[in-house]
Amino acid sequence: MVVPDVNDAAVRQRIVVTMVERSMKTRWSTASPVVRRTLVLASVLILGAVGMAAQQQNFDNIQVRSMHVQGKIWMLVGAGGNVTIQIGDDGVLVVDTQFDGMADKLIAEINRLSGGKPIRYIINTHSHGDHVGGNQKIAAAGAQIVAGNFAGQIAFRTGGGNPAFIIAHENALNRISRPAQGEPPPFEAWPTDTFFVESKDMYFNGEAIRLLHQPNAHTDGDILVHFRGSDVISAGDVYTNARYPNIDVAAGGSINGIVAAANNIIDLTVPADKQEGGTYVIPGHGRLADEADVVEYRDMLTIIRDRIQDLAQKGQTLEQVKAAKPTLDYDGRFGAATGIGNTDTFVERVYNGVKPPDPPANNRNRRR
Ligand SMILES: [Zn+2]
Repeated sequence: MVVPDVNDAAVRQRIVVTMVERSMKTRWSTASPVVRRTLVLASVLILGAVGMAAQQQNFDNIQVRSMHVQGKIWMLVGAGGNVTIQIGDDGVLVVDTQFDGMADKLIAEINRLSGGKPIRYIINTHSHGDHVGGNQKIAAAGAQIVAGNFAGQIAFRTGGGNPAFIIAHENALNRISRPAQGEPPPFEAWPTDTFFVESKDMYFNGEAIRLLHQPNAHTDGDILVHFRGSDVISAGDVYTNARYPNIDVAAGGSINGIVAAANNIIDLTVPADKQEGGTYVIPGHGRLADEADVVEYRDMLTIIRDRIQDLAQKGQTLEQVKAAKPTLDYDGRFGAATGIGNTDTFVERVYNGVKPPDPPANNRNRRR
């Protein structure tokens, strides 16, 4: 574990940003219920004007389907990212929440599988809307385990409710609370509990759970959720086996971070007989996987990255690299002409991530 060095300017700035955000949250959260509801309503109306048209999607015909993975873990699919849930005597833990419009169906399925046990924790693998959109409703449907005066403090903070905790990496909170475009979601949808070191440990439902930050991979706030007792990893979008990865460069993603995350998953997984099964990996999108699947994906990423890097180091432009078709032999399996993770965008983002830096125009512009 890395202990943050407060003499480091970047660490100091991060701490200041966190303190400002915490005070902002506190100010909002300690306002009277009427003021808070007005603020929430205002942000919902602004969202309605700005964001909804783009996000408008009809979920009426989409069913939530679930499968037992192993141990205490189930995988739920619907619209958006895959959802992982852990069920035990202490209640339910939910990893990722799809879209707001899917929340009621997810809650119904979680209640069916768990026999109505309370949802205690939500974990967000990263900040994207197709993984955190149901945070508010699913947290409100849950209940924290709290005792003594703390219960009263939470009731005061939430205007009477006792929603589930929402855990995420601090960079994910920063992106949820200050999106690059549009307004942030209501405060009740934000993570309540964040960390900025390499990992966070939890113990819930009788098993150790490790939250492992994967720096600058799909975004800058990705975490793997490793259920050590059940032997399952919920990977979020650092591993999506239906397509090439969506490297969200604007949110701090990079090809080398994605390759590193795939290698970290391979380090944690142990296959059973004949390289099949053993540790299971729930991808952000796509089908349930085991180590052999992740190895195939890691090899694909590494081979394509090295091809593009080789061409870039020989001075080829992006257009020349695209014309050389560095992904051709994998396109049948992972390629797509349009949409998130499409082949063209993938090649472009890998190229920009591995090309040699431009030489400085003159000495004065050189970075110090
Ligand atoms: Zn994502």
